[in-house]
Amino acid sequence: MRIDIITIFPEIFESPFGYSIIKRAIDKGIVAVQLHNLRDYSQNKHRNVDDYPFGGGAGMVMMIDPIARCIEKLKSERDYDEVIYTSPDGEMLNQSVSNQISTLNNFIILCGHYKGIDERIREHFITREISIGNYVLSGGELAAVVLCDSIIRLIPGVIGDETSALSDSFQDGLLAPPVYTRPSDYHGWRVPDVLLSGNDAEIQKWRLEQSIKRTTERRPEMLND
Ligand code: SAH
Repeated sequence: MRIDIITIFPEIFESPFGYSIIKRAIDKGIVAVQLHNLRDYSQNKHRNVDDYPFGGGAGMVMMIDPIARCIEKLKSERDYDEVIYTSPDGEMLNQSVSNQISTLNNFIILCGHYKGIDERIREHFITREISIGNYVLSGGELAAVVLCDSIIRLIPGVIGDETSALSDSFQDGLLAPPVYTRPSDYHGWRVPDVLLSGNDAEIQKWRLEQSIKRTTERRPEMLND
């Protein structure tokens, strides 16, 4: 998978992409992330990428030209499956959206700033708009990190234990059951006996029951889907 990220703050990605599962996926060559500094595509001598909104009002708007120049350059080099814009009014990110995107070969993520991007970019270049929740961030970078993390861990070969991502919450329409590790007794706080029983059938049964209980209590709407 190849992910091209267009941003005015490429440095924001260094830490989240430099550790743990995402770093391993990049090191193994399973995913390549290319960062593009939008200011490199500005033709303005101050490398501006924003301007005042038509009609007045607070805040600045990201201009068409640098974004169009960057997207067109990338598209001239290869075909893209999607051009994604992170936006609070976009389709809400959930596990099913992450599963879908994890099957793509490549895509662009455009990170917005200020009051957002000129609407004509959305009309003419963007193929999918993703929100990570009903709240407003100051920029699309953190949303892009969340999106990439949720996708990359689903690509086969990224997580060592192939079944691990499949047993996470949401993957089978249920929340994950509680998990425990040693010690089995911490000052009287005991791990459920069944997990120590060695009886795999009983353990799987208990885990399913716990998943259903947790989902019923915390996300009852998931059971109606
Ligand atoms: N004025 C816009 C918000 C702009 S916030 C509005 O009210 O809808 C600046 C940028 O942050 C956006 O362009 C977008 O790329 C990003 N952003 C903010 N909140 C987001 C969210 N919940 N999900 C994804 N991206 C978000």
